[in-house]
Amino acid sequence: KQRIGVLTSGGDAPGMNAALRAVVLAAEHYGMEVMAFRHGYEGLLNNEHVPLKSADVLHVLQYSGTIIKSARCPRFKEVESAQLAANNLDSLGISALVVIGGDGSFRGAHHLSQYWKGQIIGVPGTIDNDLYGTDATIGYSTAVAIAMDALDKIRDTADAMDRVFIVEVMGRHAGFIGLKSAMAAGAERMILPELQKDKPLTIAALVKHIKRVEEVRGAGSYVMVLSEHQWPGGAVALSEQLEAEYNMPCRPCLLGHIQRGGPPTPSDRVLASELGVHAVELILQGKTEVMAGIKAGEMVEVPLVDTWTKKNPLDANLLRIQHEIFNPVKKSTRS
Ligand code: ATP
Repeated sequence: KQRIGVLTSGGDAPGMNAALRAVVLAAEHYGMEVMAFRHGYEGLLNNEHVPLKSADVLHVLQYSGTIIKSARCPRFKEVESAQLAANNLDSLGISALVVIGGDGSFRGAHHLSQYWKGQIIGVPGTIDNDLYGTDATIGYSTAVAIAMDALDKIRDTADAMDRVFIVEVMGRHAGFIGLKSAMAAGAERMILPELQKDKPLTIAALVKHIKRVEEVRGAGSYVMVLSEHQWPGGAVALSEQLEAEYNMPCRPCLLGHIQRGGPPTPSDRVLASELGVHAVELILQGKTEVMAGIKAGEMVEVPLVDTWTKKNPLDANLLRIQHEIFNPVKKSTRS
C-alpha cells in the first residue's frame, strides 16, 4: 500500500480540518494509507506521527483550527532540518507529502524538496488569500464573513453615537480580507497595503475625508477598515491620533484571532474538500512541487515557487466601485 504524509503548518485557517478530512477520505478511496505529522514541520522533525483513517476525520469539517495541530518552526529553514525530515519520511516509507498551509509553509516544502525525492503537494490553507494561482485560499471566506459580521455590529453602535470607528483586520501583507469585508459591510474607508504602497494616506487627508462625508451626509457613523501593519501602532494609535490632534472622537476595534475561529463557511468547507481530493489525485498523477488550486471553477496545479514569487492583484472592479461609486465624496470635490 502506498503511504502518504500530511501536515498543517503556519497560521491555522478555518477549513483546514475539512481539507485534512478530504485528503484522508480520498487516500482511502484510492487505496493509500495516511500518516499525519502533528504540529507542522516541528512534528516532522520530532517524528510525531499518527496514522489517520476515515473514522478519525469523519466529523471534523465543521470545526476551525486543526485536529493535527499547527506550529511555526523556524529551525526548518536549516539544511540539517530538511535532511532530518527527509530521513524521517523515508524511514516511515512515505512516498508523498501533502502540506496544508500558507506561503511560508510552501517555502518550507520547497526547501524540503531539495533534500527529499518524494512528491510534495501544497494545499492553500490561509485566511489571507495571498497565494498566487488560486482564486481563493481555504479560510479566506470565513475570515471575510467574520469581519463583515463584526463591522455590522460596530455599525449599530457607531450609528447610534455618530462615531468614527477603525476596525483592524488581518491579511498579512495583502488587502483581500480588508477589501471584501469593507464592501460587504459598506465601510466608508479602507486602508489596504496595496493602496498604501501607491499613495500612503496622510492623517490630514483622512480627517478631510471624514469631515467631507459628514458634510455630504449629515451627522452619522464613519466606519473604516484598516489592514494590519498599515499604520504605525495600528487602529489604537490611529484613533488616539485622531482624538488628540484633530479632536475627533474615534474608537478602535481589533478583530485579531476571532477571524480564525467558529464554523467555516460553506464555501470554505467545499473548497477545502475539493482541494484536498485534488491534492491526492495529483499524487496519483505523479505530480510534485505543485499547489492544488482553483481557477474559474477548474481544478489547477500551480508550481509551488510561483505561489509566493508571483502575486494575485486585488479585484480592480471591487476597488473601483468602493472608491468611485460608493464614495460619498465625489472626485471633483475630493482634491
Ligand atoms: P500564514 O501566512 O497563514 O500564517 P504560513 O504558512 O505563511 O501561514 P509561516 O509562519 O510563514 O506561515 O510559515 C510556516 C512555517 O514554514 C515556518 O514556521 C517554517 O517552519 C516554514 N518556513 C517558512 N519559510 C521557510 C523557508 N524559507 N525555508 C524553510 N522553511 C520555511
